Amino acid sequence: MTRKKTISVQAGSVCIGGDAPIVVQAMTNTDTSDIKATAAQCISLAEAGAEMVRVTVNTPRAASAVPEIKLRLRDAGISAPLIGDFHYNGHKLLRDNPQCAQALDKYRINPGNVGKGTERDTHFAEICAIARDLDKAVRIGVNAGSLDAELLERMLGENTTRETPDSPASVMNRCMVQSALQATEQALALGMREDRIVLSCKSSLPKDLIAVYRDLAEKTRQPLHLGLTEAGLGMKGIIWSAAAMGVLLEEGIGDTIRVSLTPAPGGSRCDEVYAARQLLQALSLRCFAPSVTACPGCGRTASDDFQWLAAETERYVQSRLPEWRRTRPGIETLAIAVMGCIVNGPGESKAADIGISLPGNNENPLCPVFLDGEKAATLRGTRESIARDFLELLERYVERRFGPESEMGAK
Ligand code: SF4
Repeated sequence: MTRKKTISVQAGSVCIGGDAPIVVQAMTNTDTSDIKATAAQCISLAEAGAEMVRVTVNTPRAASAVPEIKLRLRDAGISAPLIGDFHYNGHKLLRDNPQCAQALDKYRINPGNVGKGTERDTHFAEICAIARDLDKAVRIGVNAGSLDAELLERMLGENTTRETPDSPASVMNRCMVQSALQATEQALALGMREDRIVLSCKSSLPKDLIAVYRDLAEKTRQPLHLGLTEAGLGMKGIIWSAAAMGVLLEEGIGDTIRVSLTPAPGGSRCDEVYAARQLLQALSLRCFAPSVTACPGCGRTASDDFQWLAAETERYVQSRLPEWRRTRPGIETLAIAVMGCIVNGPGESKAADIGISLPGNNENPLCPVFLDGEKAATLRGTRESIARDFLELLERYVERRFGPESEMGAK
């Protein structure tokens, strides 16, 4: 897969498009006027791995909170760009709150929500003028749920006069692309720099999202922000997002992504960041953290010991990761395997950097451990003692492979 070449856009400290790695974004769900809660959530999202964080800017109070939120991020050592999400009144909020306009690194403009009739162009022009004068990046973010009504009506009308009219869904998809491209032309005509514009055309159905982005990628060189909008809760949201974005990313389409999950009540907002990172790592587009491969278990699995050991290993890796990241360069490439029986256990363990194969039904109660494809030890005992010994071997392996004396550490 070759990534489609796009223009490189600088938004604060982050580069989107061109040869830059695909950027992970997240968005807060706090009331932006609540400075404490919003700054705390921005920090959590950034610490979880969000490389850009977006906040809603919908009221004068929210706009006036933005500079302090930005300050708190910087005080916490977070350099991730802060993006303002505007609908309906963005022109007014940015005009009336110059400190907010200055503090934000990028503005999200929805061309379907900037106004109606002639107001639409005036409001859009006002936002673009502010972005241009302050040298800010913008995302022209079209959304299926808030399409430019006048453009859609016109395109639906034209469609009815065709000999073989398209389905309403495909007219809507074409309309999204058209809206993004028209708004880009307008922004450029208003003096915005080409390397300050990112585009998105989000839809909530994977099939539509794929069609829209394939079309969009053919017609523009602007970097593309990818995301299945309103993806939904839990497993559904993750799978639908991965199904849609996986296809596009594999075709080289997409320069930045967000997984728009609905958090479970009381759930963590950071799940959308973890999902986005897993998606990019699954496609070998980015590498963020060591991977733990584990088999699903089956009728050959003697007990839940291997599930327990896989979970223990994952927990251990997560707990050690902050320090490893600081002191063990390259640690994110580490591949670990925890397997349930002899059928695939030794094979997967040999393929990993470090792997353990637990005994299945009717097998000798022995657990061979493989390092770099070679059998290095055989563990036995209770699951607790096996976990302790395995994690000790893991720690020693990490030290040898990624520590200061290693080839990677010496670099
Ligand atoms: S490795 Fe063994 S226990 Fe795990 S799924 Fe395969 S056959 Fe079943």
